[in-house]
Amino acid sequence: MSTVSRPRSQPTMTKTPPSETTILLVEDEQDLLELLRYNLVREGYQVETAGTGEDGLKRVRQMGRDLDLVLLDLMLPGIDGLEVCRTLKGRETTASVPVVMLTAKGEEADIVRGLELGADDYITKPFSPRVLMARIGAVLRRAEKDGRSQPSSVVEAGPIAIDQDRHEVTVSGEPTVLTATEFKLLALLMSRAGRVYTRQQIIESIHEGYAAVTDRSVDVQVVSLRRKLGDAGRLIETVRGVGYRLRD
Ligand code: CA
Repeated sequence: MSTVSRPRSQPTMTKTPPSETTILLVEDEQDLLELLRYNLVREGYQVETAGTGEDGLKRVRQMGRDLDLVLLDLMLPGIDGLEVCRTLKGRETTASVPVVMLTAKGEEADIVRGLELGADDYITKPFSPRVLMARIGAVLRRAEKDGRSQPSSVVEAGPIAIDQDRHEVTVSGEPTVLTATEFKLLALLMSRAGRVYTRQQIIESIHEGYAAVTDRSVDVQVVSLRRKLGDAGRLIETVRGVGYRLRD
């Protein structure tokens, strides 16, 4: 796990113990399902399982508010993972339940679609259980943080602080002048450190849906923003074939 200092606005919170956290695991490969269940249970999570997309959606309805996170394989027989994700994120009752996708290598297009449908993160098979547990922990912490009220408009990540109300950015306390577009881009990435945003999501966020903006212009904005942030610019990571994220 990274040791980047937490935003100062975040109070030291009692973290929800894993024993009270229930994860629904949707995976059709029995061996992998058992391996994942074993690791999640060992970590202290409550685990429910489903072998198909249909069964997964049924379990979601049964679990109601007890459901804290869905670990979702994309390649499922019948209703595939993307369709399950679309359904979950499209329903008011389940839209805020975090979804972590399990994907195979080379499925960048599906990863991008999943993120655009609202999935919170993904992990590519084969993966180490330790990395997966770290990802799940990070997604759950972000979800918990999002559920709390923000006491101020200032968000910090490492040496970067952004004040949405005042439209100000500082790096190690020094003011940094950004264009309006760079500011929106940084605000988006900092709103959920660790989350990958696709280029399309960035375009929609910074240009409010203006369609003529290209992927390439997002890349150009990122390059410019990184340069202005100096050393801290390295916190903005390129996720090949998918998009960008601010290091958590
Ligand atoms: Ca599968």
